[in-house]
Amino acid sequence: MNEVKHLYVHVPFCRSICFYCDFCHRIYDQELAQKWLHRLRKEMEDALRPGYETIYIGGGTPTALGYGELKTLLQLLKPYSAQVCEYTIEANPESLDEDKTALMKEFGINRVSLGVQSTDEEILRSLNRKHDFLLIQEKIALLRKYGLDNISVDLMYSLPGQTMEKLQKSLDDILSLDVPHISIYSLTIEENSVFGRKGIRSLDDETEADMYELIERVLCGNGYRHYEISNYCKDDRYSRHNMAYWNYEDFIGISLAAASKVGNRRYTNTRSFERYFSSNDIREEDLCLDKKEQMFEHIMMSLRTDIGLDIKDFENQYGCKIKEEYPQGVDNPHIVIEKGRMYCKDPAILNTVLLDFME
Ligand code: SF4
Repeated sequence: MNEVKHLYVHVPFCRSICFYCDFCHRIYDQELAQKWLHRLRKEMEDALRPGYETIYIGGGTPTALGYGELKTLLQLLKPYSAQVCEYTIEANPESLDEDKTALMKEFGINRVSLGVQSTDEEILRSLNRKHDFLLIQEKIALLRKYGLDNISVDLMYSLPGQTMEKLQKSLDDILSLDVPHISIYSLTIEENSVFGRKGIRSLDDETEADMYELIERVLCGNGYRHYEISNYCKDDRYSRHNMAYWNYEDFIGISLAAASKVGNRRYTNTRSFERYFSSNDIREEDLCLDKKEQMFEHIMMSLRTDIGLDIKDFENQYGCKIKEEYPQGVDNPHIVIEKGRMYCKDPAILNTVLLDFME
């Protein structure tokens, strides 16, 4: 029996590189992609068992793969997807076509996360994104044509040149698409991204906070549930896979740079293509957490969501009383305990609240 119910697969290729991004990827190259698939097959045989409930193919850009490679990837995953209830793939509008969409449907994918980031053409160009809003509309219609209506859209805020008006316009555009899920992240400048190397900054803290409020007001005012710091959903279509992370469940990640959590162990695969291809030892970090560390991580992840932490489960799992273990934490004015669960009233300031849960 497979004790781990959640699987993440990292596709380390993109068709172009966005200026804010420092994920593990290379520009798509057919020969390299085929070599990667060959190595991935071996990793799957070594690391996976059948019986996952959620599978998430992320990246990189999974749709950067050619049709044949995407088909091979989905075929490789088939033995592990028989019991899957949520099967997600990330896609970019410019590399998603009708043949790939039909393939996704054929292999049981039932959720698509589409990279959009903004609908403002000037901002999209400044990020080196290769699509416009019209293409996004077309690709969403294509997904729906194949019955793939569980769609998530990724957006960004605090972008250079973004005003409140431009953000409002992007939100209005996205609302017009009526998708059931929206993820929205503030720009973080990564040192090794093009922005990082050029010294480009995100917007000031005050504007960023105003934008966060605007997003919440607009999306919640239009029927979305703000269920996690950066995530909104309608009709209960939250991400089951990501919810497993926040509920502190175990997961396996395969391919380059993928992280895994199994019991008290945390490990991350190498980001180096050379090492991934040439060695059986592909783990870069392999940590064993003690009980205190696991308890803190568990609280930290759970308080990100609007369902918070199940106190009884937590106390049974770790053999402790939460009020005795974290007297300062539970007394924090932003912490609420209600109906057996503990919540953070304002997850936007969670990092500050968590200081009271640290020793
Ligand atoms: S944001 Fe996505 S598409 Fe852009 S470079 Fe990063 S992984 Fe690739």
